[in-house]
Amino acid sequence: MNIAHSAIHSIGHFIDGAAVEPAAASRRSPVFNPATGAIRGEVMLGDAAVVGAAVAAAKRAFPKWADTSSLNRARVMFRFKELMNRHHDEMARLITSEHGKVLSDARGEVMRGIEVVEFACGAPQLMKTQFSDNIGGGIDNFSLRQPIGVCAGITPFNFPAMVPMWMFPLALVCGNTFVLKPSERDPSASLLIAELLKEAGLPDGAFNVVHGDKEAVDALLQHPDVAAISFVGSTPIAEYIHREAGRRGKRVQALGGAKNHLVVMPDADLDAAADALIGAAYGSAGERCMAISVGVAVGRVADELVAKLKERIPRLKIKDGMEADADMGPVVTEAHRRKILDYIEDGIAAGATLEADGREHVVPDREDGFFLGATLFDHVAPDMKIYREEIFGPVLGIVRVEDFAEAVALVNGHEYANGVACYTADGATAREFARRIEVGMVGINVPIPVPMAFHSFGGWKRSLFGDHHAYGEEGVRFYTRYKSVMQRWPDAAASKGPEFTMPVNK
Ligand code: NAD
Repeated sequence: MNIAHSAIHSIGHFIDGAAVEPAAASRRSPVFNPATGAIRGEVMLGDAAVVGAAVAAAKRAFPKWADTSSLNRARVMFRFKELMNRHHDEMARLITSEHGKVLSDARGEVMRGIEVVEFACGAPQLMKTQFSDNIGGGIDNFSLRQPIGVCAGITPFNFPAMVPMWMFPLALVCGNTFVLKPSERDPSASLLIAELLKEAGLPDGAFNVVHGDKEAVDALLQHPDVAAISFVGSTPIAEYIHREAGRRGKRVQALGGAKNHLVVMPDADLDAAADALIGAAYGSAGERCMAISVGVAVGRVADELVAKLKERIPRLKIKDGMEADADMGPVVTEAHRRKILDYIEDGIAAGATLEADGREHVVPDREDGFFLGATLFDHVAPDMKIYREEIFGPVLGIVRVEDFAEAVALVNGHEYANGVACYTADGATAREFARRIEVGMVGINVPIPVPMAFHSFGGWKRSLFGDHHAYGEEGVRFYTRYKSVMQRWPDAAASKGPEFTMPVNK
């Protein structure tokens, strides 16, 4: 693998089984090491011609790959899984050096991606369908799940390995070919993936990587040979992708942003709830779609909960994510850091109480890194911008409510509905919460309920546009077309003359 981890290098596309040399005229974008602030690479930004070349390669590869048995497609995935295991640490280091998250968290991200690969290895079983013997008149009826063609994935910066791995393992084992447009902010993990898939025996053209921004995305949306688009990113772009792909007749799933609440009931173990809030709000510097950004303190617990959070915040080890004991690294870019600072200013101006202020946090020897400390607001109100909008940084707000009903109404009133958690010692409360809450993924005494690979991931309301959640059986459905076949063989088909009425069983 030739991807340098420290020197500045050009990051090009991967099309038809080969790295594409950067064209001199190509638009480029800097890729930073967020811990040092240094530019570590320059990524090519693909245009319609580059997208066209990738889609054409995927289209050429499709017929043969679609005709390969699901067992043999799964065998490629088995080999890919082995290679991912071998390159686990290299992949994690690549992620930390471009995203900034701490190395242990990057390793966890890679593992959660590998778990989807493991699930995809069961393709022959996953694609088994239904058969009804002798539905009448000597006819059998069975169903097929067939691939849909060239699928595209457009992915966010915050999980540069895991989110693409929510998509392509299932798309590929279902017999599709794939074009990935990863985030331009941390593009290198996708190239390592492409090389490992090739080494695993995936035919050239079946998996392609096109780097880029809106121009490349629009070219994918407009390309008539792209049959399906999977998107994960912010809500305004998710909505745009869903609309634009949908009106061109493409299959589309578009997962958007989040504002995840953790409700702390008066009977909860407050130490466990405080630990959960700290990990889920500040882990990965709050740059997770399942991060908790709102703590909902029910009844009398608020003062004690806030005190416990304030005790814990100074103990957070905020440093370069490559350091073994780091709890939290920098945010992804200086521009994003500034955006988060603006939100903090807004919260102060709106009257929320600033209990911990991360604005001036400096990491020794990393003064140019994009660091922020952990910020905690109390007395956040539902009409404040810091409550309504996704900040995507290490900022936690506490909203105080009177009772369970008010907590549920608060959560259900938010436009985002990705994940939610409830901390309680009471089974009836927990059950009621899980049933009443209008959110796609629910944790009971679990702060970040990311479903396993054999379930499916997705939010409700403005956190997901489209009909299918990601991976699991939902993923198999998304990446296949259902076909129903009725068959009768000659003896039984001896013609009784034309029939003009709908055949029914009498
Ligand atoms: P983003 O929406 O800025 O970018 C996502 C992708 O869209 C990138 O590949 C980017 O190049 C592309 N893009 C950006 N602007 C575009 C435009 N104007 N037109 C077309 N394409 C465009 O998101 P991000 O900042 O990379 O990631 C963070 C966001 O992703 C957060 O909102 C987070 O909640 C969300 N996210 C959601 C999930 C989920 O499962 N729901 C998972 C991870 C991240």
